[in-house]
Amino acid sequence: MNVLLLGPPGAGKGTQGMRLAKTLGLPKFSTGDLLRDAVARGTSLGRQAKTVMEAGDLVSDAIILGVVAEELHAPYAAEGVIFDGVVRTIAQAEGVREMLADRGQAMDAVLFLDVADDEILARLAQRRTQEARPDDDPAAIQRRLSAYREQTAPVLAWYEERGPVHRIDGTGAVDEIQNRLLTALGQ
Ligand code: ADP
Repeated sequence: MNVLLLGPPGAGKGTQGMRLAKTLGLPKFSTGDLLRDAVARGTSLGRQAKTVMEAGDLVSDAIILGVVAEELHAPYAAEGVIFDGVVRTIAQAEGVREMLADRGQAMDAVLFLDVADDEILARLAQRRTQEARPDDDPAAIQRRLSAYREQTAPVLAWYEERGPVHRIDGTGAVDEIQNRLLTALGQ
């Protein structure tokens, strides 16, 4: 089963994705984590992505689709993946659909974690005090939110035109949100 988690930065995709992966026994694939790891290791991918990420902008579709192709070819991804923050533009949605179709699969469930703007800003400010993410500074947060509104919000509509999208209230206790997600998945 392939599951896509969509939502603004700070919506809880990482936290919930990890829990879903454990419960469903599927690998979680986060382009954000993968890119941060590449930056930390100073690989060629990391060097290409570093400045863009720190500014709060989106890494190019070509780079992301290359990374997705590689990930989907890994043997552990054969039975499906939890996509966390992977699809952020329409071009990525189309690319991922083709790659899944090539192996006879589809995005089986799309879960949108809905969190209001003021709550998002509060969460990101809070995270800044706990993790030293360079893209959690105020200017980068603004750019990440605009990238989300301009490029990622349309992805939600793209999926809605093609099938059901579950809109999940992303506020409340972490366990409660997890239960909402599992219920939406019929688990
Ligand atoms: P957030 O949930 O705050 O957006 P992530 O950790 O998921 O944080 O991503 C951090 C950064 O990595 C993004 O701001 C962007 O620069 C880059 N990134 C991650 N995934 C993608 C993607 N699918 N397309 C483009 N850029 C991406």
